[in-house]
Amino acid sequence: MQPFQYIEPKSLDEAVALLAAQPGETQLIAGGSDLLSEIKEGVAAPRRLVSLAGIPGLRGIRETGGGLELGAMTTIAELAQHPAIRACYTALAQAAEELATPQIRNVGTLGGNLAQRPRCWYYRHPQTVCLKKGGDRCYALAGVSKYLCVTGGDRCYIVHPSDTAVALSVFDARVEIAGPRGTRTMPIGEFFIGPGQDLLRENGLEPGELVTRVLLPGQDEIPLGPPLQRGVGGISVPVRSLYLKARERETGDFALVSVAVAVALEGDTIRQARVCLGGVAPVPYRARPVEEYLRGQQVADVDAAHAGSLALPNPRPMADNGYKVPLTANLVTRAVGEVMSGG
Ligand SMILES: Cc1cc2nc3c(=O)[nH]c(=O)nc-3n(C[C@H](O)[C@H](O)[C@H](O)COP(=O)(O)OP(=O)(O)OC[C@H]3O[C@@H](n4cnc5c(N)ncnc54)[C@H](O)[C@@H]3O)c2cc1C
Ligand code: SF4
Repeated sequence: MQPFQYIEPKSLDEAVALLAAQPGETQLIAGGSDLLSEIKEGVAAPRRLVSLAGIPGLRGIRETGGGLELGAMTTIAELAQHPAIRACYTALAQAAEELATPQIRNVGTLGGNLAQRPRCWYYRHPQTVCLKKGGDRCYALAGVSKYLCVTGGDRCYIVHPSDTAVALSVFDARVEIAGPRGTRTMPIGEFFIGPGQDLLRENGLEPGELVTRVLLPGQDEIPLGPPLQRGVGGISVPVRSLYLKARERETGDFALVSVAVAVALEGDTIRQARVCLGGVAPVPYRARPVEEYLRGQQVADVDAAHAGSLALPNPRPMADNGYKVPLTANLVTRAVGEVMSGG
């Protein structure tokens, strides 16, 4: 392991300045549950680690005009336990609860979860320099592709590993970013980028930038539209939401496939629907044909199996991951069925 300098800035400005000064050699560290494995395994070799632990205001969940602000240093366990998230953004609480192990949930942060690196075995192997590490080929094409994507691949076939990203996508969350040119926010759907856009990165952070908060919209902003359930502290959100995750082991495992569903109801009519898939694409994947099918339907008329069959319009499975196509259809069928029955 290459020696590195560890710095704990006391302000956001200081952290941004440190990051921007030597972006190629400096990396942020939050809980360290992903980055430290990369360093120990020789996949990452930063000369300088900038910790976010000493910066005030980055940790915690605050209510804001009907919505919530989630600090980037908020732990996954804190997300899972927060009463307003459990009551009003249930899919997010479930995604956090299903994530990794209790130990990792206690140290792992929201910012680190969104910015974590891919789990592809070849990327994670210290001696393998594939396209994602600046090499000249994708080793998974002729190798093991069991855990890789079935849609959206382009020279590289990773899946985005974050559970919270999938759940946040159904609430139209925005990501707040600080950097050398100030602060900006972007919709979570634009934050993640696929290999077609950039082979080396999985998100739109520019050198020197970091995630400061995730903003969950309230009644006035959320395009799902009123009237919606009034929840804890006056927060208004989709009436029903749910996160389901299929994995090989019961605990401590990434999703083979996951799905988040959120619907806003007006009486028994579905006013609006959001469905997002994890484990199938290099970015959280919005299942728009399912959303279109659900919108305007009476709850009692929804054919969950039909919704499931629409989830992946043009799958392109690799040699070992064809199982993900029926698994996705089945998981979406189950999720839609449970949401319709109020479960
Ligand atoms: C055994 C195991 C199981 C796991 N299972 C799951 C799982 O089921 N689901 C899942 O989603 N994840 C899983 N993880 C991945 C990960 O450890 C956690 O998701 C955790 O939330 C990462 O947060 P962290 O604060 O520890 O990140 P760190 O390790 O500190 O950072 C991860 C990356 O994000 C960058 N980063 C950190 N904070 C910021 C920020 N604010 N802005 C910009 N960049 C930032 C770092 O530079 C680094 O590149 C698992 C990890 C392990 C080891
Ligand atoms: S899928 Fe991507 S990360 Fe994995 S070997 Fe291919 S190029 Fe590398």
